[in-house]
Amino acid sequence: MSTKKIFQELFSEINAVYDENEAKSIVYLLLEHFQGISKTDILLDNPLKKAFDYQEIIHRIKQHEPVQYIIGETEFYGRIFKVSPATLIPRPETEELVELTIHTFQDLAKKQLIPSSPKILDIGTGTGCIAISTAANIQDSVVTAFDISEEALKMAKQNALLNEVNVNFEKVDFLDESVHDTLPVFDIILSNPPYVMNLEKQEMEHHVLDFEPHLALFVEDENPLIFYKAIAKFAKKHLTENGFCIVEINQAFGTETADLFWKEGFKSVEVIKDFFGKDRMVKALL
Ligand code: GLN
Repeated sequence: MSTKKIFQELFSEINAVYDENEAKSIVYLLLEHFQGISKTDILLDNPLKKAFDYQEIIHRIKQHEPVQYIIGETEFYGRIFKVSPATLIPRPETEELVELTIHTFQDLAKKQLIPSSPKILDIGTGTGCIAISTAANIQDSVVTAFDISEEALKMAKQNALLNEVNVNFEKVDFLDESVHDTLPVFDIILSNPPYVMNLEKQEMEHHVLDFEPHLALFVEDENPLIFYKAIAKFAKKHLTENGFCIVEINQAFGTETADLFWKEGFKSVEVIKDFFGKDRMVKALL
């Protein structure tokens, strides 16, 4: 069967529930994963190499199941990560956090303000995307990553193996502050904790709300900064001199999140916007 024809069939089915651009990128991902077909193959109308019964897949897509869960993986910062419903699907905004971390480290290392083999902690690692990407890009770093979910830790360990980096994964309930005193010091502390409020649910897309793990997304409306309070307090005590902390944040709370770090006595705190112009990260230097 003609590849172009398959592409058009899949596209028109998926375009019934997703806009044109999203539908196109979903079809490209499906054809690449299930058929090994590239955009060029489609363009040249190279024939399919094997039969493709896509009814079941289309059904799942129409239920808004994320394509990344259907194919079981996604790309993040140039690497492949396995994903499952136990883990959030890594977002492009989080790639920006990795980028900022690498640049901040390089800048401080050049000035010899931070060790060239830094100890890094990632709190709430999920797929392991932050921990693994920083481990892969900061040579000689020693990376530790926490998560409360055993399922997520299992996935993160597989991703470290897949990407051939060493990360020390530990099951930690970070909001239980009694464990903080038992933990060592770090040069860099990173986190993309849950930060979505329940009252934001009505604006969320079905593919996020109905399929991604609520444990990784939501915080109580009464205390939306709960993780940042714990992180700022912990970072103040557990960062080495000239160490830094970068956290991904809810766009609605840039100033409030930064204030938590100012109050702990960090010497420089910045709210940083993402590619879409929204307040998305706080960077705090000790
Ligand atoms: N940015 C994610 C979303 O909009 C949420 C990530 C998080 O809660 N840490 O779905």
